[in-house]
Amino acid sequence: MAEFADRLVVATTSEGKLREIRDALRPTALRVTSLSDLGWRRDIPETGSTFEENAIIKAQTVCDESGLAALADDSGLEVDDLEGRPGVQSSRFAGPDADDDDRNRELVRLLREAGGEPPWPAQYRCVLAYAQPGAEPVTFEGVCRGAIVPDARGSGGFGYDPHFLLPDRDVTVGEVSLAEKQAISHRGEALRRFVRWIQDRQGARS
Ligand code: IMP
Repeated sequence: MAEFADRLVVATTSEGKLREIRDALRPTALRVTSLSDLGWRRDIPETGSTFEENAIIKAQTVCDESGLAALADDSGLEVDDLEGRPGVQSSRFAGPDADDDDRNRELVRLLREAGGEPPWPAQYRCVLAYAQPGAEPVTFEGVCRGAIVPDARGSGGFGYDPHFLLPDRDVTVGEVSLAEKQAISHRGEALRRFVRWIQDRQGARS
């Protein structure tokens, strides 16, 4: 691995993901830059068939074009009764113009149609990819088990969070604080793995 970089571009246009990634990277010495700080406008097509492939495509594209180290997240919801769907299609399965509310409605409709009883078991999965000039990309994964409820609860987080129940606590991710979400979420777990990895390198250098 080449000398690691001090400056890191977070390769996402999602405000929700950016907030969580920035929060988790505070203990590191990395200077975090967003795509909008770089004036980046274009969409990066997610042509991979797995979270890992898509995360690498996003991190490598931003790294190649900016010349800076980049961290990208590809993540989504895998529902047991839908054989793991929407999976990598989590942001697109309800159509190109759908917003979070449309996707949540469509998800509940599909689950009712599938016939099982709510809450419907599901999990969030996140793969982070880190790319830096002159090195192979590295990935970090996290999974969070839970269940989907038909009615939204809470307004925290983003995306499917108000429908994603943490069964042992009877709260949705929409009802917990950012700190609580980071402690239990798929992205929190992947970020802790990345932070440990980068801190090992920072320690080795100092
Ligand atoms: P991506 O940009 O293709 O990775 O899209 C991820 C999709 O999964 C988006 O629709 C998000 O709403 C959803 N998603 C990923 N992580 C979370 C999360 O932490 N909470 C809620 N929805 C999430």
